[in-house]
Amino acid sequence: MDPHTGAPPAPEPETSRRIRIAPQDPPAAHTASTSERGSFCLAVCGCGWRGPARRSRDLARRDAAEHGAA
Ligand SMILES: [Zn+2]
Repeated sequence: MDPHTGAPPAPEPETSRRIRIAPQDPPAAHTASTSERGSFCLAVCGCGWRGPARRSRDLARRDAAEHGAA
């Protein structure tokens, strides 16, 4: 053993490598709500779904409810 080497200790190999576990897909949460577009009202959902434009907000709300139930 040469005391004059003065070599820095080699970095420890990362033995405990963190394994990234992909999060499980959450259940398709349909958070449908209604959105007004001018004089129309349409149902929109968090999944990207959009219902047809309705003149009646009740109809749009029903579209949203039907989508959420499907
Ligand atoms: Zn949806």
